[in-house]
Amino acid sequence: MKLLRPPLPEAPLKYILNMHPLNLQGAVIVIGGGIIGSFVAYFLRREGYAGAIRVIERDSTYQYSSTALSAASIRTQFGCEFNVRMSLFGAEMFRQIRDWFGNDANIGYDERGYLILGSLQAAAGMRAGALKQNELGAAIDILTPAQAHARFPWLNVEDIEIATYGAANEGWFDAWALLQLVRREARRLGVEYVEAEAVGIEQAGQRVTGVRLADGRALAADWCVNAAGAAGGKVAAMLGIELPVRARKRTVFHVKTPLESHGFPMLFDNSGAWIRPEGEGYIAGIAPDESNDPDADGDFEPDYALLEDSLWLKLAHRVPAFESLRLLRAWAGHYEVNLLDHNGVLGPHDEISNFLFATGFSGHGLMHAPAAGRAIAEQIVHGAFLALDLAPLGYGRIRRGEPIVESVVY
Ligand SMILES: Cc1cc2nc3c(=O)[nH]c(=O)nc-3n(C[C@H](O)[C@H](O)[C@H](O)COP(=O)(O)OP(=O)(O)OC[C@H]3O[C@@H](n4cnc5c(N)ncnc54)[C@H](O)[C@@H]3O)c2cc1C
Repeated sequence: MKLLRPPLPEAPLKYILNMHPLNLQGAVIVIGGGIIGSFVAYFLRREGYAGAIRVIERDSTYQYSSTALSAASIRTQFGCEFNVRMSLFGAEMFRQIRDWFGNDANIGYDERGYLILGSLQAAAGMRAGALKQNELGAAIDILTPAQAHARFPWLNVEDIEIATYGAANEGWFDAWALLQLVRREARRLGVEYVEAEAVGIEQAGQRVTGVRLADGRALAADWCVNAAGAAGGKVAAMLGIELPVRARKRTVFHVKTPLESHGFPMLFDNSGAWIRPEGEGYIAGIAPDESNDPDADGDFEPDYALLEDSLWLKLAHRVPAFESLRLLRAWAGHYEVNLLDHNGVLGPHDEISNFLFATGFSGHGLMHAPAAGRAIAEQIVHGAFLALDLAPLGYGRIRRGEPIVESVVY
């Protein structure tokens, strides 16, 4: 099998110092073949894993997967250091996508910043956050309202105190194209995609031994990765493990307005509304109130009332040209919300150590998929997180009920 590259360059010393014997054999089963499961499989091969890798995906059309239904954007503006670092790795990959996936690779990466607006109460925290992000390698401009208005003349700045703008490492891309590239490369490297639903996980003592499929087959496993997205809680429950990851519906509205979208950022208003260019129009959304955000299992019906009752008014207040927006279409997908702290759950279970989590990213799993996939591959092959220390995202905090709160969530 031909590997494209040696182990990745970000942390060579850690790779050299890690004394864990390499694990390159055995059977890995990844449950879920969306962007995260596919990156896990891909990076396993990149790390030199030579055993069988099977990705179990129940729907190869991906029509209800979060990957296919997302807003496909990437930001480095996060409160938690590990989220900033994961995004920086994602942005680097997206910018140099051909180096990773070949000369025909094109994910339409449009590197434009998030413009995040803050009120007087939020200003000090946002300023400190941006300075911290820049220390970690991000490129966030901190703007006064007047500076923001000078740069974005269509913006109403009368009730904001601060704006932060990602001058690099932020933007949006074609998530479907990315998924197809990663799947193609994983398959080329000998990963098998199995179209089937996983319905049970076999266990002997403190180890997973196999996965049962709805069609009656049972596949043996030396490692099992839970990359089932919004169904991550259900897959964990197959082993009796409580994982507070639930499906929460988020509606995306594709709209047209007279305002030219050239130079328009991914705008995050302090009201919670967001909007960014898409094709000749824009896509926009807003989370429902917490009191009206039930488990969304099987519900993919767009919530049109959100546009009528809340989003439209908020957008028109912030950008008066949006008063005359026209709805083109809408769709709804599922966030995989980690109810404990809105952060991903990554790495081995603390008792069943060959069962690994790669889920719960709560609406930022696309941008973090490259880093998450690489981290799981490192865990299986090297027994440790090497390029980035993502140990804080482990299952231990779930068991202890100790959240690591991410302050920048939408
Ligand atoms: C409206 C919306 C906007 C978003 N915007 C962004 C954004 O701008 N940036 C960003 O980074 N993230 C965004 N996200 C989040 C992002 O889409 C997800 O975090 C990411 O796609 C998660 O990838 P995944 O592979 O874990 O999940 P998925 O893409 O859902 O893949 C999981 C797969 O597992 C399969 N599966 C589940 N259970 C089983 C089983 N038992 N057996 C077999 N297969 C199974 C499913 O069929 C599915 O294909 C958004 C999400 C939504 C809904």
